[in-house]
Amino acid sequence: METTLSAIKPTGQLTLGNYLGALRNFPKFQDESKNIIFIADLHALTLPIAPEVLRENTRDVAAFYLAAGLDPKKTIIFLQSMVHQHSELSTIIGNYAYMGEMSRMTQFKEKSSHLNEKSIGLGIFTYPVLMAADIVLYNATKVPVGEDQKQHVELCRNLVTRFNHLYGDILTLPEPVIPTVGARIMSLSDPTKKMSKSDPKGDIFLKDDEKTIRKKIMSAVTDMETSVHYDKVNKPGISNLMTIYASIKNITIEDVEKEFVGSNYGTFKRAVADAIVAELTPFQNRYREIIASGELDRVLKEGAEQASQIAEVTLEKVKKAIGLYQVK
Ligand code: ATP
Ligand code: MG
Repeated sequence: METTLSAIKPTGQLTLGNYLGALRNFPKFQDESKNIIFIADLHALTLPIAPEVLRENTRDVAAFYLAAGLDPKKTIIFLQSMVHQHSELSTIIGNYAYMGEMSRMTQFKEKSSHLNEKSIGLGIFTYPVLMAADIVLYNATKVPVGEDQKQHVELCRNLVTRFNHLYGDILTLPEPVIPTVGARIMSLSDPTKKMSKSDPKGDIFLKDDEKTIRKKIMSAVTDMETSVHYDKVNKPGISNLMTIYASIKNITIEDVEKEFVGSNYGTFKRAVADAIVAELTPFQNRYREIIASGELDRVLKEGAEQASQIAEVTLEKVKKAIGLYQVK
């Protein structure tokens, strides 16, 4: 049986990119595989964040998981920081990761490039090791992520192969699962950059109200042409809006092109805004109900207990394999 695992970091307010690239796809797996989805709160510490903001974001990600349709009876939902095995395994497998390969990680380069070397925390560098531990603890076979996380899953695969070569068939080799449309939603203000919750310019937030969503879409950067067709290099803004539309409507880019032949940008943008509003309104209502229900802490507590049981088995196997003394 397959095990699917994924997570979102509570680093900021969730965006439409997180929704289309990750969140919306998570519930699909709970009926066909073992499903483990957690809130990567330890990963959220890699760049400075205020304690109260971290707390609120964490609660929000949990509520969004349930609002997106994750069912705690079918999916194990928990906070990374409540399952100590993540940190422990990370300490162990970090010894099998090399400085060279870690330095080549695009996310590390992007997130640290504007920082002074003296103020780059170690966590942002070692992040992919903790992520590898997150994945292998649960013997995950499938990791649904957006395009940007593919490299980290590849690093995890390299670590697994290296570790197993040394110690036998201990860790399970995971595979990334990338959506065909919506894997990389771009910023509305600079469509050459990824939409990111930690860089809020050009984002649509999952908590934005209808008016804000419409305003943001209508003022999204486009180009001087008038026809709605896909050309990522010369028309990154329009192409991004087409991707958003296709992804929400579950249609192909060609379908979008056909639908808007002869339409001007204003008409097209209004249709995109309508689609986003129609998708997010029921989702936001469910989110509010979940927050009001007061159920979240129970879900997270039970999830952590279940997760910890599985994680402990892997951790013990690893400790034994590498020769950490086993007291009987
Ligand atoms: P941060 O800026 O803190 O890294 P983020 O928006 O990149 O935030 P993550 O927590 O790193 O979000 O990623 C959560 C999930 O959302 C991952 O599966 C990631 O691949 C996906 N994701 C993030 N941004 C996008 C995007 N613009 N388009 C599609 N998927 C995305
Ligand atoms: Mg990210």
